[in-house]
Formats: sequence, structure tokens, C-alpha cells
Amino acid sequence: MAKIFLTGGAGYIGSHTAVELLNEGYEVVVYDNLYNSSKESIKRVEEITGKSLTFYEGDIRDREKLTKILKAEKVDAIIHFAGLKAVGESVRKPLEYYENNVGGSITLLEIMNELEIKNIVFSSSATVYGNPDTVPITESSPKKDCTNPYGWSKSMVEQIMMDAQLANPKLNVILLRYFNPVGAHESGKIGEDPKGIPNNLMPYISQVAIGKLEKLGVFGNDYDTPDGTGVRDYIHVVDLAKGHVRAIKKIMENPGLKIYNLGTGVGYSVLDMVHAFSKACKKELPYEIKPRREGDIATCYADPTLAKEELSWEATKTLEEMCEDTWHWQTMNPNGYNS
Ligand code: NAD
Ligand code: UDP
Repeated sequence: MAKIFLTGGAGYIGSHTAVELLNEGYEVVVYDNLYNSSKESIKRVEEITGKSLTFYEGDIRDREKLTKILKAEKVDAIIHFAGLKAVGESVRKPLEYYENNVGGSITLLEIMNELEIKNIVFSSSATVYGNPDTVPITESSPKKDCTNPYGWSKSMVEQIMMDAQLANPKLNVILLRYFNPVGAHESGKIGEDPKGIPNNLMPYISQVAIGKLEKLGVFGNDYDTPDGTGVRDYIHVVDLAKGHVRAIKKIMENPGLKIYNLGTGVGYSVLDMVHAFSKACKKELPYEIKPRREGDIATCYADPTLAKEELSWEATKTLEEMCEDTWHWQTMNPNGYNS
């Protein structure tokens, strides 16, 4: 069975993808600098699957180490999750974000060229669509200006990978544009473990529910949406992880360049999320309406048809499952992997 190398594989989406790959019989090698994750997640992946994986602590910008490991491991494909992802922080530290996300990706691509590794799946984001003219968003919707350095770093790495693929037709590149990943593995053993106060909606709500945070601030209720709050396409992280397994199957067919939206095709508002989570945790969740957050858009959801047609993949988990699984993870691990 093929051997898959996961940069950033100790993180939130990477660890869930490792589980699905191991369950499907792939060999998994994780390379992560643990900047935003913990080795505990690797242990938990092994507990869930009853299988072992190979872990290396290392930075994608460490050319020597990465080259040495990739040379020794002889992997069939790379899924490139590694990167920094805090939108607000990226505005304050743009150079750090570009250096890690863009610089690191270039180093990785150079090493792949040198070692003739020909398959890469990249973690991109719906953020590359900017403020879309129409929804649902298809892959042929235009890429637009991003509103922060994090978003630009994704957009730039996409461009770099497309150019690298054009220059080297032996290279296969699949860009996966994630919508809003939420939820956790149903075992409650792995999940999202944000450092400090969460920026994203779901982990924030979850920490209000467990009593770590007092109340949720709802960023604007005057958008042109059914209840005035922002609408997003929330996708269960296990569905997302399964999308990566399908992308790996696809990339083995030498597809050249492919781009897929990974979303459900359904949009929920901030208040929909609050109410659904409230049901899952059986508590009222206090919130207050705050001003809009700079850079936010009203509505964003995917047209996931292409992934269904070409990857035979579609999201199957419901909003209830997203909330229940997040709550299960939160209550089993009130302090994340440090509990
Ligand atoms: P995460 O922070 O949990 O995982 C990223 C991992 O990369 C972490 O384990 C971190 O330690 C590691 N890492 C960071 N810089 C590294 C480096 N230089 N060398 C080696 N390892 C490094 O984030 P996630 O939510 O799992 O996201 C995975 C990928 O998906 C990221 O590229 C992210 O930008 C992208 N993405 C995430 C979302 C989301 O909402 N979670 C949405 C769209 C795209
Ligand atoms: N949001 C909110 N309060 C928060 C965090 C997020 O009201 O504390 C809203 C935000 O304005 C957006 C939605 O929740 O409409 C999803 O935000 P998130 O940051 O999770 O994802 P993104 O903005 O990247 O789609």
C-alpha cells in the first residue's frame, strides 16, 4: 500500500486524515514541528486505529532534515498541511506567515523536484475566493483579493504550485479548498486544540459551553442573510479527512492539476450554530451582538459537485453530529491535549 507523508500531520485536520488513511491501509509518515500541536495527537491516532505511524519532529523550512527524511522514506505522495493559520495574527506578523507558509512550501516543492516525488495535495481554503459575487461557489469562480496575509499566503502557494506543475508535467497537484472545518473524531480522542482564545466560531462556542469563556460575541447581525448573521459552510473534519483519502486515490491516476472544493453545499448562520450547539450540550449559550469583524463576508458556501463527480466524495455528517462530536471532544479533554 502507498506511503503518504503528512506535513503538519499532528495538527487538527492532519491527525483526522492520518486516522482515515491508516483505516484504509495506507502507511503514514508525519512530519511536524509541533508549533501548534502536540505529540499526544499522534498517540491518540494510534489508539483509535490500532495501527502505528512514523513521526518526525521537524520543520518544513529545514531543507537538510526534510531532504534526508524524504530520501529515506521513499513516499508515494505528500499531503501538505503544515502552516500557520491564525487570520488575526497574520495581520500583525505578515512576514512570519509568508516565510512559513510560502517559503516553507517552496522549500518542500524544491525538495520534491530534487527527489522526483511527484504527488502533492495542498490544504487550501475558500478564503482564496475573497468576497464571492455569487454562491454557491464553484471551482471556476474567480479568485479574488484576500483580506489578510494568511489568505494571501494560501492564494500564493496555489499559484506557485500551479506554475510548478505547468513547468513539470510529471508533477501532480491537487488543491483542496476547505470551507469551514469543525467537529472532532467520534471517539472524542482527537479534535481541535486551539492555543489561547479561539478565533474561530465553533471552538469559541465550545469553550463558552464548558464555562472557560463567558459569552460569545456575534460579529454583526445586519448582514444580508436570513437572520442577519454570517453564513458559512461548516464541514465535519472526518468528512474532510475522507476527502483527502479520495484525493490520494485520484492523484495516483496522474491527474496533472486538479482543484476541488471540500464543503457540504449548505450554509448555516452564526445563530444556527449557537442553537445547534445548545441542543448538543443541553445548555443555554449566552451571546451578545457585536460589530462586524473586519474582513468578514456575509455568505460563503460551496458547490461541492466537482468533488462528488471526480472524487466520488461527499460530506455526509450532519450539523448535529458536528456539534455533538465537538462537545464530546471538549468534555473529554477540557484542556485539550494537556488534560
Ligand atoms: P493546525 O495548526 O492544527 O495544523 C497545522 C500543523 O502544521 C500544526 O501541527 C503545526 O505544528 C504544523 N506546522 C506549522 N508550521 C510548520 C512548519 N514550518 N514545519 C512543520 N510543521 C509546521 O491547523 P489545521 O486546522 O489542521 O490546518 C491544516 C492546514 O489546513 C493548514 O495549512 C491550514 O491553513 C489549512 N486550512 C485550515 C482551515 C481551518 O479552518 N482549520 C481552513 C482552511 C485551510
Ligand atoms: N464569528 C462570530 N464570533 C466569533 C467568531 C466567529 O460571530 O467569535 C462569526 C464570523 O463573523 C463568521 C462565522 O462566525 O460569520 C465563522 O467565523 P470563523 O472565524 O469560524 O470562520 P471564517 O470567518 O474564516 O469563515
